[in-house]
Amino acid sequence: MQLQGDFHVHTNFCPHGASDNMEAYVQAAIKQGLEYITFTEHAPLPKGFIDPTPEQDSAMSWEDVEVYLHEATRLKEKYEDLITINAGFELDYIEGFEKELTAFIDSIGETAYYSILSIHMLKAPNGEYVCIDYSADEFKRITELFGSVDAVYQTYYLTMEKLLNTDFGNYRPDRIGHLTLIEKFSKLYTAKQAYTTEIINLLETIQAKGFELDANTAGFFKPYCGTCYPNATILQKAYQMNIPLVFGSDSHQAKDIARGSELLPDIETSLPRSIRQLI
Ligand SMILES: [Zn+2]
Ligand SMILES: [Zn+2]
Repeated sequence: MQLQGDFHVHTNFCPHGASDNMEAYVQAAIKQGLEYITFTEHAPLPKGFIDPTPEQDSAMSWEDVEVYLHEATRLKEKYEDLITINAGFELDYIEGFEKELTAFIDSIGETAYYSILSIHMLKAPNGEYVCIDYSADEFKRITELFGSVDAVYQTYYLTMEKLLNTDFGNYRPDRIGHLTLIEKFSKLYTAKQAYTTEIINLLETIQAKGFELDANTAGFFKPYCGTCYPNATILQKAYQMNIPLVFGSDSHQAKDIARGSELLPDIETSLPRSIRQLI
């Protein structure tokens, strides 16, 4: 089936991505024959939270929020005959900063419906926050800080459970980003357990609470991962459970739009609810 859209896309407002502007992504999407593109730039991190990455480049700046949304609206109008453009955010769930995240969601209102809830930051046992997908070297340091690879995985899945049980108020985003991002460096730092039970429990909560899943192909192209997020087995399980699976390339450069859709297992992807409701 022809892919309808790419719903997890970054932009030049992301300090760790390419400098391709949003229009370049739109043109790449049109070239690929997509009907939809949804931008999901990393929302600014909460004030009072210190980005633990060396370059402090995890997210867009507060000053850029309006500029980003404004540019999305300009492109939406310019290309409306060719493609449907929407913009939301990839929102970081950070344990201890739930109030700040909910306030941000309230402030963007319906833009939240096009957004994704993701975990990149974990709270370590010593209270320090860490970014789990920054680099293999940093992941190694994190495993030492937690005591083992498995301790990091356990905390990641526990944090995911907390995310799913958080009340995000009136504009709760529907989509959970890269559910198994913790596997990004799994070929280098392998957990002893598979966490299947934990993940199935998460899927049950996702289903019960009406969330959707980001069927994220970025992991296929990460040298120490080599699989989608979540992996094929979990994606198929989620598909059997009728959890909507929304395609996302997680592109950080225009040429990666729609990348990897042919590598997904035999599942059908869905349009996000935010868009299904409008049709
Ligand atoms: Zn990013
Ligand atoms: Zn992400």
